[in-house]
Amino acid sequence: MNLQEDIRTDDPEIYELIRLEKERQRKGLEMIASENFASRSVQQALGSCLTNKYSEGQPGQRYYGGNEIIDKVELLCQKRAREAFGLDADRWGVNVQPLSGSPANFAVYTAVVEPHGRIMGLYLPDGGHLSHGFMTQNKRVSATSVFFESFPYKVDPVTGLIDYDKLRENALMFLPKMIVAGVSCYSRNLDYKRFREIADEVGALLLADMAHVSGLVAAGEIPSPFDYCDIVTTTTHKTLRGPRSGMIFYRKGVRKVLKSGENVMYDLEKKINEAVFPGLQGGPHNHQIAAVAVALRQAVTPEFKLYQKQVMANAKALCTGLQNKGYTIVSGGTDTHLVLVDLRPQKLDGARAEKVLEDVGIAVNKNTCPGDKSALKPSGLRIGTPALTSRGLKEEDFDRVVEFIHEAILLTQEVVSSSGPTLREFKTKLSTDQEVVNKVKALKSRVEEFAIKFSLPGFDDW
Ligand SMILES: *Cc1c(COP(=O)(O)O)cnc(C)c1O
Repeated sequence: MNLQEDIRTDDPEIYELIRLEKERQRKGLEMIASENFASRSVQQALGSCLTNKYSEGQPGQRYYGGNEIIDKVELLCQKRAREAFGLDADRWGVNVQPLSGSPANFAVYTAVVEPHGRIMGLYLPDGGHLSHGFMTQNKRVSATSVFFESFPYKVDPVTGLIDYDKLRENALMFLPKMIVAGVSCYSRNLDYKRFREIADEVGALLLADMAHVSGLVAAGEIPSPFDYCDIVTTTTHKTLRGPRSGMIFYRKGVRKVLKSGENVMYDLEKKINEAVFPGLQGGPHNHQIAAVAVALRQAVTPEFKLYQKQVMANAKALCTGLQNKGYTIVSGGTDTHLVLVDLRPQKLDGARAEKVLEDVGIAVNKNTCPGDKSALKPSGLRIGTPALTSRGLKEEDFDRVVEFIHEAILLTQEVVSSSGPTLREFKTKLSTDQEVVNKVKALKSRVEEFAIKFSLPGFDDW
């Protein structure tokens, strides 16, 4: 075995699969709201020798030798993380070791909520995230609901907006140790001030999970959770456009001053660091941390701010374009990078539309809409703009994208009206009816022709 071998000759099988995936990314329209295209320099850091090093512990306090360079990488990443969000080192610390967003959240609960302590997060079918404690009648789905007690808050089924009054009412009875303000499928800004008031009223810690929107926050385009929260977690691969990873920001210093004049200090730093390691993880992924640092350096540039402005302008163009075609957008619009389309007026469901869109090269995901009777048959589509904006699409390009989406949905309606009631029958018709197959093929090739005009960040040769 030659350890210097190139992947092309060393492992043609995996090389070919990577090449095919690259081609799929290039020829398709990526509109999954949580996805993005990391820059070439981010990918270079990920592919670096830093993957070889063990560095359990914190910079300056490692369990292994040889970490003098790794320490610099991690400290630089921490410094850039604070800079990207305008944070003062005396008031905020950051742990950049979580392997991704869900592990970051679990580390926070492990650190500050005792076993079976109480957590309130947004209900998953209403736009929350699994890691905030999702469970069903039959199953505690997320480990958060296995090891902690979770009780969800919801959106108003009519307006599609978070029902803060109801959250307060339930929080006053449930008395959670922690309230989580964070969303995966919600197109409006969060009222962090209101969350803070409710948390204070019930004596809860407030965690903001800004996974989806951290790039928009860094650019100053939407309200920052740092003004009101005790702890902020994020992924780094969504709007922030870094590698897949996670970060935990926690407050430091004085928490409050008592009437006696005595200071009450925050005690989050040690608890959070110890929950990440040795609590839940072993060695940090140093290549990942370096790549996060690269992304965070990009996040303070004027180009990044322009990019995030464009992400939001594109989401608005997507939203109005779809509304002009007669589609219903949950909450009536967007303040962020995504829209949730409610297909009930079209008498369609998300799964069927998602399938046809996938077949024509447009990646979106089915999602429940407020008021959906069953989480198993979601009636909406979540559509986001960050990835396509990274490829350089502007508002007028999104007009074309809206046309493609509309054509695919009309095609879905056509197939639904002539196939049996089950999803299986629908899929059979879609893949076997020659006329339908030809229409899908024709639309797919027009989508491809459009998509390949836009460059893809990353390596050109594969
Ligand atoms: C994406 C997301 C996460 C989890 O991220 P992973 O990196 O996939 O574990 C956590 N919270 C929210 C709100 C998210 O949208």
